[in-house]
Amino acid sequence: MRVHDIGDGAPAHAVVACLHGDEPCGVRAVDYVRDHQTALTGPVRLVVANERALAADSRGVDEDLNRVFPGDPAADSHESRLAAELLDTLDGLTVLDLHSTVSSAEPFAVVGRPTDRSLALAAATGTESVVDASYLGGGLLAHVDGVAVECGRQGSTAAGGVAVRVTARFLAAVGLLEAPDDLLAGADTAPGFVPTGASAHRLPPRDTPPVLFRIVGPAGEPNDVFVAENFTRVAAGEPFARRDGEPVTASEPFSPVLMSTDGYADKLGYRGTRVGRLDTPTTE
Ligand SMILES: [Zn+2]
Repeated sequence: MRVHDIGDGAPAHAVVACLHGDEPCGVRAVDYVRDHQTALTGPVRLVVANERALAADSRGVDEDLNRVFPGDPAADSHESRLAAELLDTLDGLTVLDLHSTVSSAEPFAVVGRPTDRSLALAAATGTESVVDASYLGGGLLAHVDGVAVECGRQGSTAAGGVAVRVTARFLAAVGLLEAPDDLLAGADTAPGFVPTGASAHRLPPRDTPPVLFRIVGPAGEPNDVFVAENFTRVAAGEPFARRDGEPVTASEPFSPVLMSTDGYADKLGYRGTRVGRLDTPTTE
């Protein structure tokens, strides 16, 4: 685990990359903030969590780190020991947890506990959709305050650029930047960035609040082919997947969340309900 405390004083906030080693976008954000730290007005802790899995380009070495919290310092499993160490490192801090996914190029925020504070932070990250994942339980966000963001497709250049932008918005929302642009000056021309205007996934300034979706259960079978779109309502009777060449239809309406043909070993993804648009929240 790599930990950098930057700025003066004890940090109250942390940015965490690489809970999953095959999701390198967060490292881009951690390194970018280190290189531009003079823009910050206060201290922050930057963490690259699973360095061994990152080096192996695998989700985990022994298991999925985000499924073993609170972990055990005496465990045989690398991830179980690391989970305990990470919770110590993040104790009392408000966290931005950066991920990427196979299910969606479009960035979205995830809260583990839908409090006013976590929903406000999720809205501040600038994504169009926010997922209440409390149904899933466990995970880092069941143990620390904060928000996770799925920054785009695993390994994509765009996901690295989104991770930096999301981090700038988070740092501004918690008062560590006067404005996100203070960190982002020059970012559009930095290596690995998608130039402004070149991608739909660049998180342009938002004038409408994001839409909150709540996960309510699993959906589909692992070998299903996903034929609908995440965050887009499937009506009763409409197909959302193909199984052995036959359409699989919704028995009742739902919004697909984290659904992908290649995502999970035991399901196609999750059924979500659209809760509604988040009012313009504050992060206080
Ligand atoms: Zn992840």
